[in-house]
Amino acid sequence: MKIAVIGAGPAGMMSSYFASKNSDVTLFEKNEKLGKKLYITGKGRCNLTNSKDISEYFDEIPRNEKFLYSALYSFSNIQTMELFNEYGLKLKEERGDRVFPVSDKSSDVIATYLKMLKSNNVNIKLNTEVTNIKKEEDIFTVETLDGDYEFDKVIIATGGVSYSATGSTGDGHKFAKKFGMKVERLKPALVPIELKDDFLEEVQGLALKNVSLKTYQNNKLKHEEFGELLFAHFGITGPIVLKTSSAINRLKDVKLTIDLKPALDEKTLENRILKDFEKYLNKEIKNSLNELLPKRLIPMVIDQSGIDEKKSVNQITKEERMNLIRAIKDFSIKFKSFLDINAAIVTSGGVAVSDIDPSTMESKKVEGLYFCGEVIDVDAFTGGYNIQIANSTGYIAGSSAAE
Ligand SMILES: Cc1cc2nc3c(=O)[nH]c(=O)nc-3n(C[C@H](O)[C@H](O)[C@H](O)COP(=O)(O)OP(=O)(O)OC[C@H]3O[C@@H](n4cnc5c(N)ncnc54)[C@H](O)[C@@H]3O)c2cc1C
Repeated sequence: MKIAVIGAGPAGMMSSYFASKNSDVTLFEKNEKLGKKLYITGKGRCNLTNSKDISEYFDEIPRNEKFLYSALYSFSNIQTMELFNEYGLKLKEERGDRVFPVSDKSSDVIATYLKMLKSNNVNIKLNTEVTNIKKEEDIFTVETLDGDYEFDKVIIATGGVSYSATGSTGDGHKFAKKFGMKVERLKPALVPIELKDDFLEEVQGLALKNVSLKTYQNNKLKHEEFGELLFAHFGITGPIVLKTSSAINRLKDVKLTIDLKPALDEKTLENRILKDFEKYLNKEIKNSLNELLPKRLIPMVIDQSGIDEKKSVNQITKEERMNLIRAIKDFSIKFKSFLDINAAIVTSGGVAVSDIDPSTMESKKVEGLYFCGEVIDVDAFTGGYNIQIANSTGYIAGSSAAE
């Protein structure tokens, strides 16, 4: 059996490896080398999987996690790590169960994939962009600028549309559409958020640790994320912002607030404020909160509380105190948009999971056509989950295609 795999990211390489155990596989990659995006993952160190129990993965996948049950259980993080070990790549675990190569070099991960592909005699065609895929009778024709090739089966592993300079330009979505498959709207995920607030210049560079970013829609709390957030000139970024973006990228008219003191309930916070007020009784309110809040944020918090910043602490009424508490627990920031999808770590949306069989990754519309990796409408939070999804779906696509 002759199988074509389009795209040499983790999904395409893993599917090529498993398909080539008993088939003749050609891997087409438009770039001059394998895994161009993989190379920049994990800040060049490649966080290739996560060692959490696989049952815990589903909380880390905000979109279509059920579709991935079969893939993640058939080729789990453990099996992935064992395979890399078998091919000589030593791995280590870091904070949050993130797994990296001991060498801290993503190039070593790519070299290991290459070893795997070579050991199974995969025919690798670099600098070969696939421009079209056709199916007539039972034969697929893969068209490239170098000529046309015929195959019994085709696996599409072309990735999403983010960081398009790495080669992921959405070609797989076009191929799927041409075959009559549904492609869900593409949205940026794991992406910074732009704000409309006019105070950004004053807080740019300020990092807030142990805060909660809350998302409301129609006054209902839709999402809450606890951890670190960073103000930038355009808005906010940092771990909890990226995670929030993936969770809310399909919601309209959202309101964002930051709980600056999530560990304190209103009563405890009030007691804490009263203590500080006692200490700074004759000071202006703006000079009484330095021990509670980051200095650069104090004017904005006071502004949202409606208190005159020059008012002396001993003149603050109970109502004003309550407003101050509200401004601290629900500090409002104005959502403008997500940064461009090209700046997103992953693409949300893609080939509809309803058109793909989750136990084989075969198209339900076109026999012999398979999909794996980010081209499919699945995405996960940071922590090594996205590459694991590429490997697990790649395993299923490759082994089913070769069956
Ligand atoms: C900056 C950054 C850091 C990241 N860090 C991590 C991390 O540490 N851990 C993690 O789990 N995830 C991380 N990710 C996400 C992860 O890189 C992707 O989810 C993963 O690479 C998807 O794999 P894939 O094989 O589906 O697609 P890709 O890796 O995008 O590979 C697709 C390949 O297909 C090729 N291709 C496309 N069209 C054609 C065509 N027409 N003909 C031939 N070839 C084609 C492309 O050139 C590309 O090489 C990161 C992403 C970015 C942008």
